[in-house]
Amino acid sequence: MNTFDLIVLGGGTGGYIAAIRASQLGLNVAIVEKGKLGGTCLHSGCIPSKALLRSAEVFHTAKKAREFGVNVENIDYDFSVIMSRKNKIIDQLHKGVQHLMKLGKIQVFEGFGTIEKNSGTDDHPVCIKIKTVDEQILVLAKKCIIATGSRPRSLNGLEVDGKYILTSEEALQLEQLPKSIIIVGGGVIGIEWASLLNDFGVVVTVLEYAPRIIPTEDVDISKEMLRCMKKRGVKIITGAKVLAESVSIENETVTIQAEVKETVQSFTADQILVSVGRIANTDGYGLENTDVQVDRGTIVVDGMMKTADPNFYAIGDVIGGLQLAHVASHEGIIAVEHINGNQPHALQNDLVPKCIYSRPECSNVGLTEEAAIEKGHQVKIGKFFFRAIGKALVYGEVDGFVKFVSDAETGALLGVHMIGPHVTDMITEAGLALLLNATSYQVGQMIHPHPSLTEAIGEAALAVDGLSFHG
Ligand code: FAD
Repeated sequence: MNTFDLIVLGGGTGGYIAAIRASQLGLNVAIVEKGKLGGTCLHSGCIPSKALLRSAEVFHTAKKAREFGVNVENIDYDFSVIMSRKNKIIDQLHKGVQHLMKLGKIQVFEGFGTIEKNSGTDDHPVCIKIKTVDEQILVLAKKCIIATGSRPRSLNGLEVDGKYILTSEEALQLEQLPKSIIIVGGGVIGIEWASLLNDFGVVVTVLEYAPRIIPTEDVDISKEMLRCMKKRGVKIITGAKVLAESVSIENETVTIQAEVKETVQSFTADQILVSVGRIANTDGYGLENTDVQVDRGTIVVDGMMKTADPNFYAIGDVIGGLQLAHVASHEGIIAVEHINGNQPHALQNDLVPKCIYSRPECSNVGLTEEAAIEKGHQVKIGKFFFRAIGKALVYGEVDGFVKFVSDAETGALLGVHMIGPHVTDMITEAGLALLLNATSYQVGQMIHPHPSLTEAIGEAALAVDGLSFHG
């Protein structure tokens, strides 16, 4: 019988990082993965989508090369090369994760794991049955981390067929791009797809139920994104309630209706991409054999990632909340440290950077202006636009701004929100400032190199007290 200190169910970003930390701490650890190590993020999420976005950005830049005095003739793209480049990146990173498992002496079981009822021993109370291609194995462990991730949510009546109706999973496997597409859902994933498809010349319509796109962002960021997307020719309809069952396919096109401002409108395109969120994977692997509690589809945990069953922890998308790769891995580290008897800090949502990799990019950390006011703060706002930043002009990307939200009385930094070029690489400075409880004034005292896009951070910080130099 295989016995371990820790077994991790699911080898996605959360699971494999948890396993590595366990191995670093000297635990005897195994991981069970039914698909491929790396999970959603590596195979059907962060990495492939960003690889395609990068190709889209290169194509966009090539199209405007003449603005830079560079003459490029017959600009075109080869979608098969774009896809094989994406696949090569995934393969390389996948091999990297496999190598890390070997380095850490982490036993990897390739198969579907289910939690067995009362089959463990006093020492190793967790029993996992692993169904591999040709056998069933029982594995015992002292503790288990559930890291089974999530899958795309679909809408009743709008069944995904992989041809006309897709989720991001199918879209990432397309052999050719459609001429037109309807994206149902203007959240993070929907807007990333709108951006990349529009860059490739696809006619894009976004139908968003909420009154604004990317509704979890600060209101000003949503407005600026709407302006940028409209300028690029993306049709965006907010307050649109899609009537999923109205969908019909005729002459190789798909039509769907949506209620918009009490009228019913029809939309037709080659394909529909459904991006309406993700559902946690909690079914079919024996949770009923544990005391783990599930509330509204996600596993309930405390700050140490402990479930209601002392033998089980849960991390990542399966616990809901911020469904992000860096959150999943951080939660994995917290769980393992706690299992090992340490007292790690609980994750603070307000310190998690969140990014959107569209063109322009968005990023934020901390409270939005609305949330800060709701929490009882009197706020002071500092804003600085990229159009006044030399490096943004040099770069040829001037849309967007950096916005600081500070407490009016104390000057304490509450949140930073950015939209513009490379802001997903710039948010870390704001995250560190929040972690260190800096005031916006202190961030303004930081010397930012010139010329650099980060000057917008310094100027926005100074703008909180009316002290910016160029705005
Ligand atoms: P997953 O990565 O989903 O891993 C779960 C693993 O468990 C899977 O490999 C699965 O096969 C396995 N599994 C499930 N059940 C079993 C079982 N019973 N037995 C064995 N194995 C099992 N996040 C970001 O931070 N940045 C981004 O840019 C970003 N972009 C995204 C783009 C898209 C299109 C999508 C869909 C997601 C994106 N995300 C992004 C979200 C990110 O991918 C997830 O938050 C992250 O993958 C969650 O990690 P996880 O370990 O919880 O789950």
